[in-house]
Amino acid sequence: MSLQAITAVCKRQVRCALACLAATVALLSVGVRAKAANTCTPGTTLRLSAPTSSQGGLLLIEVKSTKPLVEVQGEWEGRNVPFWGDIAGETLRKGLLGVDLEKAPGEYELKVTGQTASGEKISCSARVAVRKGRFATENLQVGKQFVEPSPEQIKRADEERQKLRDIFDRVTPERLWDGKFRIPLDGVTTGTNFGRRRILNGNPGSPHGGVDLPGATGTPVHAAQRGKVVLAEELFFAGNTVVVDHGLGIYTFYGHLSEIDVKVGDAVETGAVLGKVGATGRVTGPHLHWGLTVEKARVNPLLLVRLLGNSTREAARKKSAKPGPN
Ligand SMILES: [Zn+2]
Repeated sequence: MSLQAITAVCKRQVRCALACLAATVALLSVGVRAKAANTCTPGTTLRLSAPTSSQGGLLLIEVKSTKPLVEVQGEWEGRNVPFWGDIAGETLRKGLLGVDLEKAPGEYELKVTGQTASGEKISCSARVAVRKGRFATENLQVGKQFVEPSPEQIKRADEERQKLRDIFDRVTPERLWDGKFRIPLDGVTTGTNFGRRRILNGNPGSPHGGVDLPGATGTPVHAAQRGKVVLAEELFFAGNTVVVDHGLGIYTFYGHLSEIDVKVGDAVETGAVLGKVGATGRVTGPHLHWGLTVEKARVNPLLLVRLLGNSTREAARKKSAKPGPN
């Protein structure tokens, strides 16, 4: 979101898109550099998908034990780290550590505790370094009417921000998703503008908390994974918006829709059509604003697809393996 005064910036979009694409590529190319310094009780190991992360980043955690685990929980900077297992009686549990877009760079301790089926306690700890994100900054001079919303508009936007905060504060204890996540638009492989900060007439706005995916008005917008619709309404900045709860504190956000095809309470499967791409809210051109929240941390949603697999890419691969018409 943070879509204040997006109007009047259309001409800068191409330049910005290129800068943001570079930033996204840089973010995605963060790989494993060194083995994280971590300690565990005997018989248990902790593995992170990367030893360091950056603002808006996401790490996949794997906790493995020589004995079946019945429970595992994690804590990082006063936030829960969601953990899950794929099969009962397993020795492997996975977790997701989301680093908020505005988390101060530094080193923070991750603590993981749990219990084996035979009642033994396990624990691990690791230092997770957070680096500054490489995000684009745009300086803009725009008409006053775009910078200063009316008192009614401010009140409305504040109420909607609080409503979203309340939604993200609620953690559904069950994992509703199952398998790989997908990018919500068919044929789209990447997005732009994550973390971009606009400085409007000298005043820095809040950073852009999602990625913008290109799409023409009317393009179907698909659910990134299975979940439950927890918001389906028009918001001041994001226009027609759908939020899907995937469980364990993981939410995906779909903004600027021309039409909403679901309602609050609907259970949706991966790929279900939530609505259509549009230009509602504070934008000039049609696109999909796609956001991801992991335990209240605003994270680049493309990283979730990267870490937990891309169901559309696999479908495309299968399709391209079939003989073509020629
Ligand atoms: Zn956006």
